[in-house]
Amino acid sequence: MKKSMYGKFGGQFVPEVLMPALTELEEAYERYKDDREFLKELDYYMKEFAGRETPLYFAKNLSEKYGIKIYLKREDLVHGGAHKLNNTLGQALLAKYMGKKRLIAETGAGQHGTATAMAAANMGFESEVYMGAKDVIRQHMNVYRMELMGTKVNAVESGSKTLKDAINEAFRDWVTNVENTHYLIGSVVGSHPYPMIVRDFQSVIGKEVKDQIMEKEGRYPDSIIACAGGGSNAMGIFYPFIEDKEVKLFPVEAGGKEMRTTEKEALHSASLCVGEEGILQGAHTLILQDKYGQILESSSISAGLDYSGVGPELAYLADIGRITPCYANDDEALEAFYELSRLEGIIPALESSHAIAYLMKMAKMGKLGELGDLVVINLSGRGDKDLETVFKLKEEESKEDCL
Ligand SMILES: *Cc1c(COP(=O)(O)O)cnc(C)c1O
Repeated sequence: MKKSMYGKFGGQFVPEVLMPALTELEEAYERYKDDREFLKELDYYMKEFAGRETPLYFAKNLSEKYGIKIYLKREDLVHGGAHKLNNTLGQALLAKYMGKKRLIAETGAGQHGTATAMAAANMGFESEVYMGAKDVIRQHMNVYRMELMGTKVNAVESGSKTLKDAINEAFRDWVTNVENTHYLIGSVVGSHPYPMIVRDFQSVIGKEVKDQIMEKEGRYPDSIIACAGGGSNAMGIFYPFIEDKEVKLFPVEAGGKEMRTTEKEALHSASLCVGEEGILQGAHTLILQDKYGQILESSSISAGLDYSGVGPELAYLADIGRITPCYANDDEALEAFYELSRLEGIIPALESSHAIAYLMKMAKMGKLGELGDLVVINLSGRGDKDLETVFKLKEEESKEDCL
């Protein structure tokens, strides 16, 4: 198997002019990933700036209700409120070692852009983020957040004015400025070496879980559940357990309003479950697309799961049967959002709510046994950012009730 490939997935499908940049990045990563000074500095940022390690929290009320032991990996407590900073800090530090002065990124809802802005401000980079013009309006508070931290946000007016157009613009910028610029990709997606680099930086999650669960339970969990958009928090918690075959791994995708499997009604963003092979962001992977191969826009209540593809390594792991792709829809995620808030006093991100929803769904179907009796759920982020979304939905519902 070629190093850039995960089975038939992955690769480097980019314009020729970008190949030297990918090679430079790969060589730098190979050089620094085991470098003592680099690792020491990364460790410093993870601990002092991001607030690692995060707790593996025993959710006693949830456990009691479902009759199994449930632990939550508290990535919601990372600075910024999600796991995303693990990756942006890692890549920003790598860029610094490579002598780059400028970071660029694309962002959909603005969460990755914000995490990039944090790393850039802290480490003294100039930074620019590309964002579809529609998203700039929808997510104006995240735009303001990025600007507060000194990042320039470029509204992309071309095409559908959303994430895929922002990706194109970011590539264009990179081609022009590759000399001094690092393109900071936000999930385990894109051309090799990105899926590998992002996976490795996020693997801190799974490594911590290994130690923590051994200390608390003296064994590995029966199952690990994580939501999957591009797949970085899932790969991060799964990866250290890949060889431990007794641990079942469940990536939960967004089923949207209602899971549809017909191509034209992609009211979801479940690429692993219903995507087809194609090229997105320079990699061969599973993508939501129409019969002409045009990328379909995904749709989910949670902005962070709204990506039309999924990381190539996840596609591969699903292909060989090591992970079990599944999904939860908007209503199920909302129910989980309320349940965790009420039972544990933790308001989860709507993305993370999908992971919890999967457990609740299995319980409803009487299939909890398939998960075993020791389960770890990756709580990828906190729900503060989603309060307005949930609040509005509730208002709409109560209006409907009055009619
Ligand atoms: C961005 C985000 C996700 C989805 O991204 P992955 O790369 O699939 O992890 C999930 N949860 C939260 C809280 C996010 O911000």
